[in-house]
Amino acid sequence: MNLLSIKELTKFYQSEKIAVDHVSFNLNKGECLGLVGESGCGKSTLARCLMRIERIDSGSILFENEAIELLDERHLHSYRKKMQIVFQNPSAALNPKLKVKDSLIDPYAQYKKELNLSHFSYTSKDAFIRQLLEAVELPSHLADKYPHELSGGQRQRVTIARAISIEPELIVLDEPTASLDVISQKAVLSLLTELRETLNLSYLFISHDLAAVSQMCQRILVMKDGRLVDQFNTNYLFDNERHPYTKELISIF
Ligand code: ADP
Ligand code: MG
Repeated sequence: MNLLSIKELTKFYQSEKIAVDHVSFNLNKGECLGLVGESGCGKSTLARCLMRIERIDSGSILFENEAIELLDERHLHSYRKKMQIVFQNPSAALNPKLKVKDSLIDPYAQYKKELNLSHFSYTSKDAFIRQLLEAVELPSHLADKYPHELSGGQRQRVTIARAISIEPELIVLDEPTASLDVISQKAVLSLLTELRETLNLSYLFISHDLAAVSQMCQRILVMKDGRLVDQFNTNYLFDNERHPYTKELISIF
């Protein structure tokens, strides 16, 4: 089933600089779709357009067949409940003045009237926070800590817990492990895979690292200078018909 359908999405910064250039793709429910390309090729811009943090200049984004460009504030609020984002830098994503438990409860507090949770259940704030921390394999005593008291890997697990807390349909993961050391990277990637299966999530997994993308994703989109130059099933990564740029990425991993 098709969850997200992007058609000819185009985004300029100023009038000259094209960051995303007529990009089209589909994302199916339950899949982990990879988006790979070197720094500056437009991956984060595309992610911000999907979240409607950034407005697009032309093209369309359909989520469950609804054009998100046309949503008013009220419908945008419901849309954001279905789509969460995890950024590269968890320190910037967490409010340094809030304890972990207060950052974690924020999406639930915003959406509690419209939520119909199937995996998590809310009986009390403490019990809910405990479930979230457990889901991302963090000890429950971290609930009372501040972000600066956690390691980078623990902080990223907190932002992942926050993203899954309202059981969205899709999570956009924008280089979620790029700020972590190699050991935490591996652990966070396998946690993300596990969570996708347990919670029936779909991911758009963005990375400059083709090795990570090919490990995580069933399908891969390759972006260069704002355009999609290649898209294929991960099984065909080493096929001879891959785009020269994909082959270049393969040669450096
Ligand atoms: P990536 O995430 O792949 O590294 P980005 O989407 O961040 O790429 O950037 C794509 C291009 O758009 C780059 O050339 C970048 O310099 C430019 N860009 C990104 N954000 C802005 C902005 N807010 N204003 C102007 N240019 C930007
Ligand atoms: Mg980026």
